Amino acid sequence: MSELNLVLLGPPGAGKGTQADRLRDDFELPYFATGNILRDAVKNGSELGREAKGYMERGALVPDELICGVIAERLDSGDADNGFLLDGFPRTIPQAEMLERALEERSRALTAALLIGAPDQEVLRRLSGRRTCAKAGHVYHLEFDPPKNEGVCDQDGSRLIQRDDDKPETIRKRLATYHEQTEPLIDWYEQRGLLRRFDGLLPPDEVHSRIRATLATLALEAEI
Ligand SMILES: [Zn+2]
Repeated sequence: MSELNLVLLGPPGAGKGTQADRLRDDFELPYFATGNILRDAVKNGSELGREAKGYMERGALVPDELICGVIAERLDSGDADNGFLLDGFPRTIPQAEMLERALEERSRALTAALLIGAPDQEVLRRLSGRRTCAKAGHVYHLEFDPPKNEGVCDQDGSRLIQRDDDKPETIRKRLATYHEQTEPLIDWYEQRGLLRRFDGLLPPDEVHSRIRATLATLALEAEI
């Protein structure tokens, strides 16, 4: 099969993580979520990993060049020869340009940017309804998966809290950043004919089968 070099795009709460898990199984693609590959690089003690560690320990943002370098390291390591699934990078046009150059230098190119969309109201509804058990991190949803007793974990009886990440003001901030920085990227990929749109309001199984069908078509086209 030909390479599937993929980028996942979409607002928080649209279901990117769920779809990524399924695509990894379907196509046996390595999943490069920004946080994970940075942690891996730190653990492996590569030069870039040591550099990234410095930023992370100071609580500073890891520069784009460094993140892209860590991705490039993984591209060169052989575990992404059949493709990859990138999540969390690129988030801005300059990052996308950087990634494009890194791929070009390796005579590779992106196969598609998969956008899983969801309107702000739905993102707020999904994320702000989450409650997490203070003891073991069991996750509930006030609307979709409520606990048997209000405010109490079914499994261990501990108190359910709303994490800072799930508070409406935090979600609104993340959405504002997404609209400002990442949405222009959607047009950028569209202009390059790489964008594929999926409706994150559909049930996860349906989103999954649509993405699968799209990728199967892309893989076929690449082989012809
Ligand atoms: Zn619990």
